Amino acid sequence: MSVSTITPWVVGNWKMNPMQADAQALVQNFKDLLESAPVSTENCHLGVAPTTLALTQIQTAFASANRPVYTVAQDVSRISGTGAYTGEVSAELLADSQIRYVLIGHSERREIFAESSQILNAKIKNALNAGLTVIYCVGESLEQREAGQAEAVVLQQICDIATVVAGEQWKNIVIAYEPIWAIGTGKTASPEDAQAMHAQIRQGLSQITGYAATMAILYGGSVKPENAVELAACPDINGALVGGASLNAESFHQIAQAFANTQ
Ligand code: PEP
Repeated sequence: MSVSTITPWVVGNWKMNPMQADAQALVQNFKDLLESAPVSTENCHLGVAPTTLALTQIQTAFASANRPVYTVAQDVSRISGTGAYTGEVSAELLADSQIRYVLIGHSERREIFAESSQILNAKIKNALNAGLTVIYCVGESLEQREAGQAEAVVLQQICDIATVVAGEQWKNIVIAYEPIWAIGTGKTASPEDAQAMHAQIRQGLSQITGYAATMAILYGGSVKPENAVELAACPDINGALVGGASLNAESFHQIAQAFANTQ
């Protein structure tokens, strides 16, 4: 099963970057590029995920862009609502600030912050209940790939969320396949390998939801202008989750153009 009518997504994950003045300059440069070389809303969803601290500031800065650029939270609490949970930001608090998108399951959260599938499922459940769209990250380590387990690991990560995502809620799930060995390393999965995994993911999704054919599956892992065109040409790669290259307005804009031009 392969699909090419899905509107692609290009989302920048700023991680724990940048300082405030640099963030403002980055947004301004990107808005200027969108003015001089527009990326049409019909051809590409665009988003950036700044730090929690900067979410509303960046949202305000993008309000004057010539097209929507979604503000995406990098994380959400596994606790819902409000209450005595020091340091946490719930899905309801994000929604209350008009933050409608959230990354969940990034390998850095899984590894460095020991987020288990139970924790991720609690976050996904809360996010969906609060009306957020979830960008759910999956991906295998180098050891798992070398042991021939890549596909099984990734499909298990997809199956893990089937216990908390039901029916129409799948319409609010975007998958991001990010092989861990390709994140921040400069190594990218070849377009053939990435396409093969994306096709497997879609096949796996089709076993658990009727929305598999219309779901966006993004690729992440050292995406840059030099490899974006080739990746964007793959039928089951419906966009990119971009780390390092999203901190440069020109690079991020070129990646967005590469995906928008496939439409
Ligand atoms: C990421 O962390 O989501 C990512 C894909 O990073 P990079 O593009 O820097 O590899």
